[in-house]
Amino acid sequence: MSGPRPQPRDDLRALEGYHSAQVDVPVRLNTNESPFAPPEEFVRDWLAAMADAPYNRYPDREAAALRAALAELLGQPAARVFPANGSNEVLQTILLTYAGAGRSALLFEPTYALHAHLARITGTAVVEGERDDALAIDLESAAALIEQHRPAVTFVCSPNNPTGTVEPRAVVTALLDLVAAHGGLLVVDEAYGEFASWSALELVDDNRPLVVARTYSKVWSLAGVRLGFAVGPEWLVAELDKVVLPYHLSVPTQLAGRLALAYRDEMERRVAKLVEERGRLYAVLAELDGVDVFPSGANFLLFRVHGDGRAVWKALVEQGVLVRDFSRWPRLDECLRVTVGTASENDAFLAALRRALTEVGAA
Ligand code: PMP
Repeated sequence: MSGPRPQPRDDLRALEGYHSAQVDVPVRLNTNESPFAPPEEFVRDWLAAMADAPYNRYPDREAAALRAALAELLGQPAARVFPANGSNEVLQTILLTYAGAGRSALLFEPTYALHAHLARITGTAVVEGERDDALAIDLESAAALIEQHRPAVTFVCSPNNPTGTVEPRAVVTALLDLVAAHGGLLVVDEAYGEFASWSALELVDDNRPLVVARTYSKVWSLAGVRLGFAVGPEWLVAELDKVVLPYHLSVPTQLAGRLALAYRDEMERRVAKLVEERGRLYAVLAELDGVDVFPSGANFLLFRVHGDGRAVWKALVEQGVLVRDFSRWPRLDECLRVTVGTASENDAFLAALRRALTEVGAA
């Protein structure tokens, strides 16, 4: 072969891929999935439905049955629902449609790394806002950034990953007014919305430039299936449908999404259990010498170690407990994030953390 090797786009050169250390340990509390397997009856229904599906044909391009089931769950018209392969594909499709070259996306760091990453992949300029000391969005500085940059898309992650912060309704409505004034779109990423005290879903209608992204990966115990959805104005969903790849949702994915919704009561019980466990973990961490824990409306808790966060992370891994290391992230020095697991996983984490803090001299 002669000649130069093909090179990726210049604007992608500096990009790092998405990294989250995956270590094979008994207690994995690093990626905010549900600790519970999906209900057995659901898996049986799903396998039975899959056995009868016509795989020589493409799937339903509109995913009409899935949209109708989601619409019923949400109390919204089906035309306001856009399903995709995980909420990451939802977010990417929103950026492909409303952002891209010559446009910008505003986000408030520290926040979910994929917002900036997907913006860059789609050729969108990233405008970085900063959260305040309480890790909340400061409206005054947000207003100044919106005025200055007129971002096509503004991201609010609530509850925010990795901080757990829930943005109050008043902040979301104020941001909505600010972006609406210049033709911008507000995207509220509610991947953890079911664990929080309120949802921006109640604000969605056809007259507001607001779209809410949700996922089956957490509450619905289906991270392995890859399914998420957006709820937004009909005109927005119609545009997303033009951009997303045809037949992007496979037959098994559409079936799983529709059939899972029959287990809503079970899922609500699981959310309640995890919220209770979150409260227990929070109370213990708040009392522990050597850490400061942040309030959370999600299925995880962020805490700061009084000492070397990375050393504590390593000492936890050595004891078979994996959490997420944010200790070298800007604004999150020495912070670690733990997913709320089952009661026994949480106990194992707390015991390992006590030992780790003593070992590294942080307690
Ligand atoms: N948004 C946030 C804030 C997340 O934390 C995640 C998962 N880590 C996602 C979106 C993506 O979820 P999925 O693609 O699995 O639906």
